[in-house]
Amino acid sequence: MIISGLQKTTLLDYPNRVAATIFLGGCNMRCPFCQNYSLLEHPCCNFKPEEILAFLEKRKEILDGVCISGGEPTLHQELPEFLSQIKHLGYDIKLDSNGSKPQVLQSLIEQRLVDYVAMDVKGPLTSYSRFCGGDFADTEAVFHSINLLKSNRIPYEFRTTVAKGLHSREDILALGNLLEHSQTLYLQNFIPSNDVPDKTLQSFTLEELAQMKELLHPFIFHVHIRGE
Ligand code: SF4
Repeated sequence: MIISGLQKTTLLDYPNRVAATIFLGGCNMRCPFCQNYSLLEHPCCNFKPEEILAFLEKRKEILDGVCISGGEPTLHQELPEFLSQIKHLGYDIKLDSNGSKPQVLQSLIEQRLVDYVAMDVKGPLTSYSRFCGGDFADTEAVFHSINLLKSNRIPYEFRTTVAKGLHSREDILALGNLLEHSQTLYLQNFIPSNDVPDKTLQSFTLEELAQMKELLHPFIFHVHIRGE
């Protein structure tokens, strides 16, 4: 398992928890707005699992949650064992995923190894490769993961990073249809940076984000703009 990073404390990543975030390297998508693009092809392994577990053991009095983020964590075969060890320390676990491995997601939920899932939905499935890079084509898997979470077996959120130059009004409406009857969607505004592969993309204005929220409101129970 490739553990690329550790954020020792966060109040933002896990709702209602003081958490640490662990970043696992490698991903099967290549989103044009990815903030960690340079780490996708050759991710660095900066920590051993036992180092992370020792850190979490020491921090039990301060932290009450652990976020597992990426890259794409569900690509790692050692993930269930790692989560089980974190659970034994008494932590609640939030998993960030792009939804490309629904069987893994389902198994983790059934084994009660995750308590909360945040799943990226990049855009409407009909043109998914436009939103997540050319090679990823398994939209059926993403659809399966969406429906798994919509069945409300576990608290979850969907989240979509929106970028001007990539997402149109029609895309947002199609996204609403795809996520109809979902509990929660967070819209995340694209942030330009040197590591992002598509340098033509731009952020939306607050007014444009508010218009998207209005468009999505009839489909989804709670639509939030991240940071609002
Ligand atoms: S799924 Fe996430 S980590 Fe993977 S390329 Fe897209 S934004 Fe980057």
